[in-house]
Amino acid sequence: MADPAHSIRSHDTVPVPASLTVLSGPSGVGKSTVVRAIRRNCPQIWLSVSVTTRRPRPGEVHGREYFFVGEREFEEMARSGQLLEWARFAGHYYGTPRAPVIATQRAGLPGLLEVDVVGARQVRAAAPDALLVFLAPPSWDELVRRLTERETEPADVIERRLEAARAELRAESEFDVTLVNTSVQDVCAQLVALMTAQPVTKQAE
Ligand code: 5GP
Repeated sequence: MADPAHSIRSHDTVPVPASLTVLSGPSGVGKSTVVRAIRRNCPQIWLSVSVTTRRPRPGEVHGREYFFVGEREFEEMARSGQLLEWARFAGHYYGTPRAPVIATQRAGLPGLLEVDVVGARQVRAAAPDALLVFLAPPSWDELVRRLTERETEPADVIERRLEAARAELRAESEFDVTLVNTSVQDVCAQLVALMTAQPVTKQAE
């Protein structure tokens, strides 16, 4: 479990800024909130839009949060190599369209992918220079609270997400850097600093 005393932990050495950064971590930890804040405040960061077969939640817009597609369409995209990575999560497919990521990398722009742990491992294999960032909850209880307060999800879906979260937390050491989600604002600042080569200092909370 993440050490809430420090909001940044480097697992080895702090890596050089990468043009491709992956934000991962357990479901419910707040990845999409961080991505939303970056979309609003950091136009210099390109955000990948994933494809998914799950239904849109209230307020989600096709082409902004996700491209919402049917299972057959998704499977055809995966089969024909259009996805950089993909995974099945809580009964649905999720994947990253490959072409926009490559175009962004070629343009030398900082790009951010938000994916689950399975997807992060595939990005590591496909793009070894990518910076893998793990977003950790301040505590397990806090993660359970965030997941169970999501009123948009039925109980069996929450249970599946908690099950997945237990496994995802065990993957933290596979990542280059951990950011502890004590504050969305701090995490965004730390993430953008990592992505744009500004110096990052360890912060005591
Ligand atoms: P949600 O349904 O809550 O939006 O997302 C469920 C999980 O799927 C989250 O852990 C999220 O990070 C992950 N996810 C979103 N997009 C992708 C993707 O393109 N690939 C993979 N592997 N996971 C994704």
